[in-house]
Amino acid sequence: MWYFVVPEVVFGQDALSRLAELKGKSAFIVTDKNIVNLGLIDKVKEQLSQAGITSKVFDEVEPDPSLQTVRKGISLMSQHKPDWVVAVGGGSVMDAAKAMRVEYERPDIKAEEINPFISDLGLGIKCKLVCVATTSGTGAEATFAVVLTDTADQRKLSLINREIVPDIAIVDPELARAMPPGITSNTGMDALTHAVEGFSCTWKNDFTDGLCIRAIQLIFVYLPRAVKDGNDMEAREKMHNAACIAGIGFINALAALAHATGHSLGAVFHTPHGRAVGLFLPYTIEFIGEAREELWAEIVYSLKLEVPKGKKAASVLAQAIRDLARTIKEPLSLKELGIPSDKLNSSMQKLIDNTMADGSLIVSARVPNEEETEKLFRYAYEGKSIDF
Ligand SMILES: [Zn+2]
Repeated sequence: MWYFVVPEVVFGQDALSRLAELKGKSAFIVTDKNIVNLGLIDKVKEQLSQAGITSKVFDEVEPDPSLQTVRKGISLMSQHKPDWVVAVGGGSVMDAAKAMRVEYERPDIKAEEINPFISDLGLGIKCKLVCVATTSGTGAEATFAVVLTDTADQRKLSLINREIVPDIAIVDPELARAMPPGITSNTGMDALTHAVEGFSCTWKNDFTDGLCIRAIQLIFVYLPRAVKDGNDMEAREKMHNAACIAGIGFINALAALAHATGHSLGAVFHTPHGRAVGLFLPYTIEFIGEAREELWAEIVYSLKLEVPKGKKAASVLAQAIRDLARTIKEPLSLKELGIPSDKLNSSMQKLIDNTMADGSLIVSARVPNEEETEKLFRYAYEGKSIDF
């Protein structure tokens, strides 16, 4: 038995005005200081006030949000007693809000205890959750996964449960307009990696395939435009849609090897998530190679590219992704990323251990052993195509 879970998705110009239609009394807005400074929270409050909803703002969510921040939010939420939680931000903000909402509604379940095997969380009684995306990458507005950091224990917590999916996802391109080119490019690579891995992992399915392919097509066309000109609103809108579509696609299948290696790299070198997973994507496609050759070919054809005689679709697709990354000025190797070789060597065991322990690894169509994982990192360091 499988599930396909999605929120109500409100997209396109003026999608934010969906907030003015909410029924309720009070909202708890979860965000970060940068979003407040951009003036986006004023717009959100304005819409909520049209619905007669008063709001309280919690703007302390940091990148890679900590369990400790979530705790602070929960305690304020419990005082304010909102009937709506409104997350406004990128993946970190939305993840923090999802976790806060669970513990606010179910004080008997701690945020860090969220797991796929709890059935009947029974959310939506005390409050509902709206996620307003301000980046076009994680798709967190439509997913039911949360990543938190326990700073006391120095560990990452990956929490998943299909019931924590937001009630409403707002995908309004105007909210993405302020993203600088560097964030547009690396979050865009995250969306691409979600779509490619959702389409090629071992849990891929009929409900997610079409979404993933469409997201890939949109990203190849519109990501370079959105990076080049942040005011190209057609490109912003298509990328905002693509990230959400890829989010729905991968969360109902799963992400795989590029996420395992990317998470590992990010934990050691603090590389932004999208940059890390996007960098590994072409290497992992080459590594998985034959095991998914037909699927790589499907993606290649959907991009209106050809596989020349004697060449493999995996290498054509890997090259197309490297060309895209080059166009949007994303690094193609760990060396280009600026990691010194002695740091790579001294961290190698940790990088291997992190990768082997990552939950995304299990759905990879080819799972590397320790020796192969080390080679993957070394090839990605040098920018060498995978030949093993
Ligand atoms: Zn991702």
